[in-house]
Amino acid sequence: MGNKIPQSNHQATKEAVKDPFLPRTGIFCYPNYKMTTSEGLKNTVFHTAIIGAGASGLMCAGSFPHRKILIDHNTKPGVKISISGGGKCNFSNRFVSAADYVSENKHFCKNALAAFKPRDFLNLLNENHIRWEERTHGQLFAFNAQDIVQMLLKRAQKTGTRILTHTQVLDVRRENNLFLLDTSAGSLRAERVVLACGGLSFPELGASNFGFKIAEKFGLHLIDPRPALAGFIFPKELRSRFCQLAGNSLKAAVTCGKYSFEEQLLFTHEGVSGPAALQASLYWIPGQPVQINFLPGENALTLFYTQKNHAKTFPTALCGKLSAKVAKTILGKQNEDLSNATRAELETAAQALNCFSFIPQATSGYTRAEVTAGGVDTRQINPSTFEAKKTPGLYLIGELLDVTGRLGGFNLHWAWSSGFAAAQALAKQF
Ligand SMILES: Cc1cc2nc3c(=O)[nH]c(=O)nc-3n(C[C@H](O)[C@H](O)[C@H](O)COP(=O)(O)OP(=O)(O)OC[C@H]3O[C@@H](n4cnc5c(N)ncnc54)[C@H](O)[C@@H]3O)c2cc1C
Repeated sequence: MGNKIPQSNHQATKEAVKDPFLPRTGIFCYPNYKMTTSEGLKNTVFHTAIIGAGASGLMCAGSFPHRKILIDHNTKPGVKISISGGGKCNFSNRFVSAADYVSENKHFCKNALAAFKPRDFLNLLNENHIRWEERTHGQLFAFNAQDIVQMLLKRAQKTGTRILTHTQVLDVRRENNLFLLDTSAGSLRAERVVLACGGLSFPELGASNFGFKIAEKFGLHLIDPRPALAGFIFPKELRSRFCQLAGNSLKAAVTCGKYSFEEQLLFTHEGVSGPAALQASLYWIPGQPVQINFLPGENALTLFYTQKNHAKTFPTALCGKLSAKVAKTILGKQNEDLSNATRAELETAAQALNCFSFIPQATSGYTRAEVTAGGVDTRQINPSTFEAKKTPGLYLIGELLDVTGRLGGFNLHWAWSSGFAAAQALAKQF
């Protein structure tokens, strides 16, 4: 599959048409789109109510017909998509496979990933003349994340979705074979409910614990949620030493247990971030040490021996490999005379460069984590339909589930795949 995807449709497609229509509050609609009123809601039994107009909810809504409603408490749908990938949306990855996901039930994601591949999303973009490109490591990016949101909204509209924004769902309960939803705009009824309310990351973008709360209410067990794809916070003693490096970045290898990532590393005021640290954070268990190799592919001890008669100090021996400021900070007191250094001193310095080990105080938390790892235990969910095994009619998709992708487009791809799989199942229901 991988090789058949071209690297970009940049040349082949027209400039995407920008839809300026995004109201700030209330019921979202496209031109000619029938407005929904709270009264109308009360008297309608929807085929499906989808809670959360984020990535998975929008994909699900646009992938099956039938009278449905998509509800979000944000004033605009798809807010996270809009800002993802720095506004360019790293929407998928050419090399998606089950191995790119962390879950206590590692086979769960396979069916959905097989049924909706990166190529399928690219087909949607091409059909809608949306430009995209492939970057390093197979990462697929749009040129403007907003184009993707608008494409998803257009699909949802075409398949008969009423989109209700600025409306919080407060509760979901079962009543006479229907689901009753209490919302801030009144109550409504639906034959099926899809929980697409995401995880806890970035509360300012609408993240809430609502999905977890309702899942638990319906008897579903949670794998402890934790912030992931987040930076590490240094322990106090390292923070004061390293804070002067905030803003500096370099290529490094960050290792957590058996997982190692060689990518850019960024020093922050409180620790380290950047792709290498974010990737490692997905595998980190509190209390576990993390190692940084600041000279990946290079043996620092050999380098010091080679330089012993040429370079005066440790930092000058590292000239061209690390900036003097970074080298001095990492080595601490080891920036003195290299030619007179003892073997033990050389080994200590080499160890600091090749295997700098620390126990993070924490990750930077939900306010800055790109995703929530853990979530609803997928052993209670049908892997083909995403329906809760014990509650027919209740579907769960996206980040809410205990399936978390690595950095590089895998989480949005999971949102598309799981949303699509649930939609296929829902389409067959009537
Ligand atoms: C800053 C940032 C950048 C990211 N960049 C990328 C990237 O480039 N590539 C990638 O693969 N992944 C990226 N991610 C991760 C990705 O965006 C998420 O994994 C994905 O959006 C999850 O989709 P979802 O549908 O499960 O949840 P979401 O997209 O979070 O949608 C959940 C929706 O539910 C709504 N909601 C919650 N509670 C309620 C309630 N009670 N009532 C009504 N509505 C409710 C929320 O407002 C939200 O709109 C990024 C995440 C962040 C935070």
